[in-house]
Amino acid sequence: MDNCIFCQIISKKQPAKIVYEDDLAVAIEDIHPQAPVHLLVMPRKHLPSLTEAEAGDEPLLGHLFAVSAQLARERQLAAKGYRTVVNNGSWAGQTVSHLHVHLLGGRVFHWPPG
Ligand code: AMP
Ligand code: ZN
Repeated sequence: MDNCIFCQIISKKQPAKIVYEDDLAVAIEDIHPQAPVHLLVMPRKHLPSLTEAEAGDEPLLGHLFAVSAQLARERQLAAKGYRTVVNNGSWAGQTVSHLHVHLLGGRVFHWPPG
């Protein structure tokens, strides 16, 4: 996907602070962090959002959350708690149409979200 910023980051055509990568997923630091830790965990495969995920994508979806939990543990976020968020579509505030899990930590988060 030539016009997708996250695909460009994954293929190293655009710069980003990559903090983790494997065969299926890449994690970067969010360019506008909303918490002391704000990472984005994304599949290498271009999925516009969770809505487009298909039956065969279940292992990939699980992997994104497993990587998120691993990164949270590595950053000592687990003891106090952290938030994982997937925005889907305009009403949810999705601005980049490449599926990504926000991993937010290092401060208190409130509920319900805005
Ligand atoms: P969402 O609004 O859920 O689609 O989240 C998109 C996130 O991507 C936002 O938190 C942006 O700050 C972040 N973002 C957009 N462009 C970049 C970029 N080039 N590098 C890192 N993060 C980005
Ligand atoms: Zn993409």
